[in-house]
Amino acid sequence: MEANQFKDFGKAMIDYAANYLENIRDRRVLPTVEPGYLRPLIPETAPEKPEKWEDVLKDVERVIMPGVTHWHSPRFHAYFPTGNSYPAIVADILSGAIACIGFSWIASPACTELEVVMLDWLGKMLGLPKEFLSTSGKGGGVIQGTASEATFVALLGAKARAIGAIKREHPEMKESDIVAKLIGYTSSQSHSSVERAGLLGGVQLRPLQPDENNKLRGETVEEAIKKDLEAGLFPFYVVATLGTTSSCVFDRIDEIGPVCNDNNVWLHIDAAYAGSAFICPEYRYLMKGIERADSFNFNPHKWMVVNFDCSCMWLKDPFWLVNAFNVDPLYLKHEQQGAAPDYRHWQIPLGRRFRSLKLWFVLRLYGVENLQAHIRKQIALAHYFESLVRTDDRFEITQEVIMGLVCFRLKGSNDINEALLKRINGRGVIHLVPSKIRDTYFLRLAICSRMTEEADIDISWKEVKEAATEVLTEQK
Ligand SMILES: *Cc1c(COP(=O)(O)O)cnc(C)c1O
Repeated sequence: MEANQFKDFGKAMIDYAANYLENIRDRRVLPTVEPGYLRPLIPETAPEKPEKWEDVLKDVERVIMPGVTHWHSPRFHAYFPTGNSYPAIVADILSGAIACIGFSWIASPACTELEVVMLDWLGKMLGLPKEFLSTSGKGGGVIQGTASEATFVALLGAKARAIGAIKREHPEMKESDIVAKLIGYTSSQSHSSVERAGLLGGVQLRPLQPDENNKLRGETVEEAIKKDLEAGLFPFYVVATLGTTSSCVFDRIDEIGPVCNDNNVWLHIDAAYAGSAFICPEYRYLMKGIERADSFNFNPHKWMVVNFDCSCMWLKDPFWLVNAFNVDPLYLKHEQQGAAPDYRHWQIPLGRRFRSLKLWFVLRLYGVENLQAHIRKQIALAHYFESLVRTDDRFEITQEVIMGLVCFRLKGSNDINEALLKRINGRGVIHLVPSKIRDTYFLRLAICSRMTEEADIDISWKEVKEAATEVLTEQK
């Protein structure tokens, strides 16, 4: 393809993308296709001769769209939001054009330097303690692909730090014996990626019981650490969540932090979804105690209108992490080593895309003001849906609504709520997923699309209400 064709194809695709997003409400949120739908729609082998881009673009509607779940439809209320905005899409085009691999400073200085500064901008926007910023001298941030990677990378940093400390105290111990005795902790309500980080890292992670409001408390962590110390284990890592996936509750990091600090245990904060809300000062009370944490992570690609993937992680002291993965073959060495971070040491893969462009474009073209307005509007829409649910006494709200997630259910059995969810998704107008805490099954309605308005919430509520009437009538 020549540049002239690229310009035409690119312009046509921009038009297609804008029309897709502006008219997304007209599409059924969940596709009706069956598994295997796609193969018969395209040839069995790749074409020998080049095709025309016009034909490829035509096939997007014929082949792809019937099998798309429309995550940016205001009818999509499943999981948590995933970010999307025009500035971020345009930034990804540029990132695709530059197409550098920014594993070290010299591999593309702008790629590293913009990332360092963007993480400082963003850290200031959230009100993170200055120890997390690169300007503090020691701390700093990095863009990981996902929160799952951040949790895993923090675990490896914590593991390296703990092994170092234990070796100094017990020089006679073999490293394999130390690792076998390392023990970490997290709430039974934390994301499945935390358990996975333990499995990948080859260490034990103990799930702890949260309190009756589903928050992990300091006392619980303290007791577990004490017991394990008595049993001769080495407590080394705690993952606390701000905004759990199941019901968006906030662990008490103001209580957990001091316990971790006193015991030289690394505290990692997973705020994948809710972290974006901290750009609004009125929500920062939810991260009280953050100054006690060793690492903090949230996903602008969830709730801050940046397209996947962009998961921002800050560390007070990246030394342990850099140390945990440091291999330094000659072909990756360069003369400016040490002056700027070589981000290859901060992550699992070597290669990394120019992701900070997405942040730069979004922060400049929205401004902090409009990003705050976005968060506030989405939370207000969640409260609006909550108020509608509360007008109908067949329903109950199962968790205090704090962010853009409403957890609710029909009063009655789990079976009736399972039937309700199946009915709602079967009708195909809106899409929700359920969750279950302590054997109580409930429905989660997340405000996802940045284009959601009150009129959309009215439609979603009407769907829920009508589906409930159908299900309850059939039960009688
Ligand atoms: C979504 C979510 C994750 C996983 O995010 P990825 O970036 O997809 O790995 C982790 N923790 C919490 C609390 C989440 O809500």
